[in-house]
Amino acid sequence: MPAALRPRIFRPTPANLARLAAALRRGEIIGAPAETVYGLAADALNPVACAAIFTAKGRPTTDPLIVHLAAARDLPTVAVTNAAVAPLARAFWPGPLTLVLPKLPCIPDLITAGRSTVAVRVPGHPLFRELIRLAGRPLAAPSANPFGYISPTRAAHVRDGLAGTALRAVLDGGECAVGVESTILDLSNLARPRLLRPGGIAVEDLERVLGRPVLRPAPARLKPTTAAPAPGMLEQHYSPRTPLQLHPRLDAAALAALPADEAALLLVKPARVPALSARGRIRWLSETGAEAEIARHLFARLRELDAGGWRRLHAELPAGAEGLVPAIRDRLLRAAAKR
Ligand code: AMP
Ligand code: MG
Repeated sequence: MPAALRPRIFRPTPANLARLAAALRRGEIIGAPAETVYGLAADALNPVACAAIFTAKGRPTTDPLIVHLAAARDLPTVAVTNAAVAPLARAFWPGPLTLVLPKLPCIPDLITAGRSTVAVRVPGHPLFRELIRLAGRPLAAPSANPFGYISPTRAAHVRDGLAGTALRAVLDGGECAVGVESTILDLSNLARPRLLRPGGIAVEDLERVLGRPVLRPAPARLKPTTAAPAPGMLEQHYSPRTPLQLHPRLDAAALAALPADEAALLLVKPARVPALSARGRIRWLSETGAEAEIARHLFARLRELDAGGWRRLHAELPAGAEGLVPAIRDRLLRAAAKR
């Protein structure tokens, strides 16, 4: 790819922030750092700008976009709020929680895929909020990757993944601290809060603040624990190009038995690092097993392994239903789902 067709990475200086905000006001798309994953941002009130997001990603227009605000007090400019919003916003914003609420007419149909609801959040990354403030309007932003591929957690992932598209600029905000997408909570029916996607905020924490249970997606979708989930059982997404197989655990014997052209991703650094880790064939997501560390490194490690030329990847799938585990399981299960 000629360098000219690759987006340029901008350091977060005040001059660069002003320049990228001006580009957003002109209707351009910009790669922007969130605490979750990097986003592909555009003026949420400009349907032509938002259309460029779908084109650059190859994203179907049936898949709605999340609208990002600089502060919770801006919510009434895009959505109809209700009694559950204020306590959730106080507890989790800025942060990785997206709320689905009835939309106001200023939000283009393209953003909501024609629905009467809009997904909204206040991102935790201060540079993203600063960009929204300087642009002076809400920003629509899905993850800044080609549709279906592994989400980006560094500026270089965005530059390399969206080279050759209309994207010209990526704001560098370092490595994403959370590393998985936001938790999406449908609050459009206040009587029945519903989880649409597990993510960076634990559902049990939402329930504590709401004071009532949250409906979860059908467990069959998130539950398979066999080595390879049945084809078609999971919507394929977040996927490496190399086939990925999941395992409850990969112990020393399992690693020793792997064919030489296959690689493995462990949840925790093994007590004794096998000799074959030398060529990057065995990698791990954390030093200690801490969920936050596993989530933060998940997408970057998958990308590294996907670039390694291996015939097949193997990864450990964590067990559990609390904290960040449902989000980590969701991403791994979808990454391993058959096309
Ligand atoms: P992404 O921007 O790639 O993190 O994905 C955004 C996701 O938010 C979509 O794939 C939908 O699942 C969800 N979403 C966005 N807007 C709505 C909405 N109005 N109603 C329900 N789900 C939504
Ligand atoms: Mg995405």
